[in-house]
Amino acid sequence: MFLLNIYLHAKPIIKTLNYTVDVLFHGIREGNITLLSKAITYLESRNAEKQAIAAELLDKCLPCAGNSIRIGITGVPGVGKSTFIDAFGKYIVEHTGKRIAVLAIDPSSKLSKGSILGDKTRMEYLSVHRNVFIRPSASGDTLGGIALRTKETIVLCESAGYEYILVETVGVGQSETAVSNMTDCFLLLMLSGAGDELQGVKRGIMEMADVIYITKADGENKEKAKQRAQEIRSIIHFLPQHQQGYIPQVNICSAYDSFNIHQVYSDCMQFIHQQKMKSLFDAKRRQQDTQWMQNAIEETCLNEIIKKLQHNEMFQQLQTKVRNNEISIFTAQKAIAEILNKL
Ligand code: GDP
Repeated sequence: MFLLNIYLHAKPIIKTLNYTVDVLFHGIREGNITLLSKAITYLESRNAEKQAIAAELLDKCLPCAGNSIRIGITGVPGVGKSTFIDAFGKYIVEHTGKRIAVLAIDPSSKLSKGSILGDKTRMEYLSVHRNVFIRPSASGDTLGGIALRTKETIVLCESAGYEYILVETVGVGQSETAVSNMTDCFLLLMLSGAGDELQGVKRGIMEMADVIYITKADGENKEKAKQRAQEIRSIIHFLPQHQQGYIPQVNICSAYDSFNIHQVYSDCMQFIHQQKMKSLFDAKRRQQDTQWMQNAIEETCLNEIIKKLQHNEMFQQLQTKVRNNEISIFTAQKAIAEILNKL
């Protein structure tokens, strides 16, 4: 009874204990996956105390970060991203001996929680490899379905010694723009069967891509994949000029047969090499940091404004009037601007 009492009283105390910045930092530097996961959870947390720990931890980690190769991988749901990443990651692990972190952003994860688990099981090889860290991000409740903390997660993974960071995202929302803005090379996976419109591939994504691969090029599909690659090669020239005239490589691969997976790796590395030769690599990262800062400012300002407006009586009245069709949204906007000026 005595022990039970201790347990019952101690449990809430244990639950509220947070890891200190130092414990997390040293754990991360030693490659402790449990503490790395914990730190990412703190990053994503809405709890002010955890956020403060995460912020301090990030400052400590920043000088140790930046040494990885960051590859973004996108494509519509079902194109074969997870299966591809398993084969691609396997190739990297086996041929370079380096450590890989896979960060999967799934905008649908809020709706179908199962898809996150699904990703892990589809990455059969990587999910049990000791040099691989897989982190799915539930991003459903962030603006545009973008995992807000992915860029910071990359910093933590780099501090933990991961040399390749693969960021998977679904190419149907805004998340691919965000991911292309935080990676060194952006790989677009496509299917041979359907047209781009049917695949949901927006022209914008093709313009963002540094490397394009038609995947599932196996069995009967191989010939169709070759044709599709040829078609894309011929239209890619008509898309607005890629960075400094770079024309993306377009090729075919199969995760099932591990066909051309080495070529995907080589194309990505070639792209990065070219960027470094033209001194564009560091410039791009600096530009990405600036953009990220801009996003963070916008997010902070917007949150602050919304918080203030929600407690403003005049704003609430405006909301009611719009709902009741008493005033148009234009009149409401003008009135909101006046409220903001007085705040
Ligand atoms: P994701 O939604 O883009 O992550 O796609 P998945 O990796 O889950 O794959 C979707 C489906 O395509 C699954 O049934 C896979 O088995 C299949 N698939 C993935 N890669 C290949 C491939 O290289 N060849 C073939 N034939 N099927 C594949």
